[in-house]
Amino acid sequence: MKPVHIIGGGLAGSEAAWQIASAGVPVVLHEMRPVRGTDAHRTDGLAELVCSNSFRSDDAATNAVGVLHREMRAMGSLVMRAADANQVPAGGALAVDRDGFSAAVTRALAAHEKIQVVRAEIPDIPPSDWDSVIISTGPLTSNQLANAIANLTGETGLAFFDAIAPIVHRDSIDMSKAWFQSRYDKAGPGGTGADYINCPLDRDQYQAFVAALVAGDKTEFKEWEGTPYFDGCLPIEVMAERGPETLRHGPMKPMGLTNVHNPTVKAYAVVQLRQDNALGTLYNMVGFQTKLKHGAQAEIFRTIPGLENAEFARLGGIHRNTYLNSPALLDARLRLKADPRLRFAGQITGCEGYVESAAVGLIAGRLAAAERLGRSLDAPPPTTAIGALLNHITGGHVTTIDAGPRSFQPMNVNFGLFPPLAEAVKAPDGKRLRGPEKARAKKMALSARAARDLDGWLAAAG
Ligand SMILES: Cc1cc2nc3c(=O)[nH]c(=O)nc-3n(C[C@H](O)[C@H](O)[C@H](O)COP(=O)(O)OP(=O)(O)OC[C@H]3O[C@@H](n4cnc5c(N)ncnc54)[C@H](O)[C@@H]3O)c2cc1C
Repeated sequence: MKPVHIIGGGLAGSEAAWQIASAGVPVVLHEMRPVRGTDAHRTDGLAELVCSNSFRSDDAATNAVGVLHREMRAMGSLVMRAADANQVPAGGALAVDRDGFSAAVTRALAAHEKIQVVRAEIPDIPPSDWDSVIISTGPLTSNQLANAIANLTGETGLAFFDAIAPIVHRDSIDMSKAWFQSRYDKAGPGGTGADYINCPLDRDQYQAFVAALVAGDKTEFKEWEGTPYFDGCLPIEVMAERGPETLRHGPMKPMGLTNVHNPTVKAYAVVQLRQDNALGTLYNMVGFQTKLKHGAQAEIFRTIPGLENAEFARLGGIHRNTYLNSPALLDARLRLKADPRLRFAGQITGCEGYVESAAVGLIAGRLAAAERLGRSLDAPPPTTAIGALLNHITGGHVTTIDAGPRSFQPMNVNFGLFPPLAEAVKAPDGKRLRGPEKARAKKMALSARAARDLDGWLAAAG
């Protein structure tokens, strides 16, 4: 049987290799370290953790990343097995001894009879006789290969920096203060004329907000990242530093908007949120890409009227990254539509985080193995954490409500990616729930549904 070739032995590539070999299909795993390094990796180990040693919450009952852990364990994940075996105390989080973790993954892959590890950089799109390839070269894909991928996918196909605006769960926005309206009620392509959620600020609120942005704690770029600012992608706090009125004439301009709760008073400034996913459960804060630290973001953005109780599915950031415009370029099985022998996995697909990258590697591996064995394998249902993530990457993201900068940005797993529940959650005695109790019950119901649906999918997959 011809092997599946995997390029990149990080979190995604290592997990993909394990899944494919476990299905009995041979794998050649190409990892460039130590022949060529990256700016962040420090060792020659496979699945090296480049920064924190945390896999985040391990709570499968009420946390989406905990649900993803559970699903990966159920699918025989090597990354989760190595993490569990190298756990260090971290409260409710799963944190690992990074060297022990990477060594365990490296050992397991080296010992598998179906896996050959080759230490070499793949600088170009592989030759056509590699008929099944997974590219999992991560956020720091080597320059030559990144340029080759960019040539293949077109000018807007591959991004080298992300510019992440915060994303808010729709049901945590206070609509007694905010309202739906597009500027000048314009429908635009794919819109209705009432596509944005608008949050109004008066003059005092605006001035306090701008002062807080300027004073807030920020994250610095690492030296090797450079400074990617270009017009149209300035961090919100950099715009605020340019003058107190800059934001009012930029992303916070109030023109063309009438506050339905107070129609005779013009808002001094408006924060707009735009639908982010096809389900309509998530909204992104338009133009709010930022280098503010996460704690400062949550504190400052919750001073915006309507967002006092906002729950953030993702906070903002700007980083060196390498990722595809996956919703446009990949099919539902993570294959490049233009050349389906090439499959992508890990952070390069537009997911974010160690666990998510490994999870996308896991599913890419299973899909590639099934294809090689001539078996059909449906993608997991979007009600599972792994299916929700895959669905977002390959199609669930809303790209065109109006013209503007590219909107698909890296995403971590969160309950906003799951289809809403068919029925409202209730207390055991049938009473309506409210506030934090309701939020917790909803998460538990989403998690229970995910567990059921993953079992069903695994049983059908055989
Ligand atoms: C600086 C930095 C800090 C981060 N911190 C965190 C964090 O704290 N927590 C978190 O959850 N996520 C973090 N991330 C995000 C991300 O989840 C991790 O980068 C994760 O490792 C991505 O997994 P991956 O498998 O897609 O890529 P990687 O784990 O980076 O694996 C890609 C592999 O491909 C190899 N490679 C690249 N090009 C080639 C080539 N041409 N030929 C052969 N091999 C190649 C690389 O050497 C590397 O081993 C961070 C990212 C960066 C860049």
